[in-house]
Amino acid sequence: MFFEVEPREYHSAIVDVTDRCNLRCQHCYYYREEHESQELSKEELLDGIRLLRDRHHIQHMSWAGGEPLLRRDVIEEGAELFPRNVLNTNGMFPLPRLSRTNVYVSIDGPPEIHDQIRGQGTYERVIQNVREGACDLVIFCSTVNKLNEPHLDAMIAGLSRLKNTALIFAFFTPLKSYHRVERYPHSETQRHRMPFTLEERDPVIHRVLELKEKYPGYILNPSRALELMLSENAAACTRNCNMTERSLTLDVRLNRRLPCVVGSDVDCNLCGCFFPFMTVASREKDPETLEFFARGIH
Ligand code: SF4
Ligand code: SF4
Repeated sequence: MFFEVEPREYHSAIVDVTDRCNLRCQHCYYYREEHESQELSKEELLDGIRLLRDRHHIQHMSWAGGEPLLRRDVIEEGAELFPRNVLNTNGMFPLPRLSRTNVYVSIDGPPEIHDQIRGQGTYERVIQNVREGACDLVIFCSTVNKLNEPHLDAMIAGLSRLKNTALIFAFFTPLKSYHRVERYPHSETQRHRMPFTLEERDPVIHRVLELKEKYPGYILNPSRALELMLSENAAACTRNCNMTERSLTLDVRLNRRLPCVVGSDVDCNLCGCFFPFMTVASREKDPETLEFFARGIH
């Protein structure tokens, strides 16, 4: 378990509740190959999380995985430990109604594209669970890559009809290097068919900015944070990313995952996570970004 001799304060933490998943998405950083589960028991995990919460004054917990709802009991008990929580789920299981918790559901395109990336029939199941769930707000989280970027408009047209939902975009973040895994083609897809260069990403960011105008209030990425992702601005943000100081990123055994959840080989130059860009926008006191954080939906 993670240990610091002189424990620092971390505003937030992200924990992999499980290293298992019911899906094998093409862009997954967790499933580039099969692995044996190394999960802690529920008691070990929650006792460890309590200890880390108290030692590091963690206020905000993100429950991730794998698919965290494979351990629904852990999530239901764990969410009681923090003033604010985020649940990151693939939406394939009924959505729990948890106090003080924002639910992020992954969606990667309109039905045929989402199914191509995540598996046959997954789109329909996710939408059914969102419709039948009793969440006050479901935030769809879409990871934009070369496979789904031509279909963003069609995706939003479908999603925005669903009550009590909103959408946030991230961009696919590649690794610096990939190794080939026998009978597991996703590494090749991630290496060759998904990543944008920063310059290739620019027109897509401009399209997202246009979509924000077309669907007012639906897309949560602040415009300034999107502008900061443009090739002329991105390096200044990612070079100064303070993820490691701000957030305790923990693997399934509560060891530190550095520099962030994607793992040690992540290519920060091509980071598509909204975090470093929102951080800079918030330092600039961009009103839309400050409002995003004030709403507590992150
Ligand atoms: S749902 Fe998440 S953890 Fe599971 S395979 Fe897809 S991206 Fe990976
Ligand atoms: S990938 Fe992005 S969020 Fe992660 S450490 Fe690098 S710059 Fe920060």
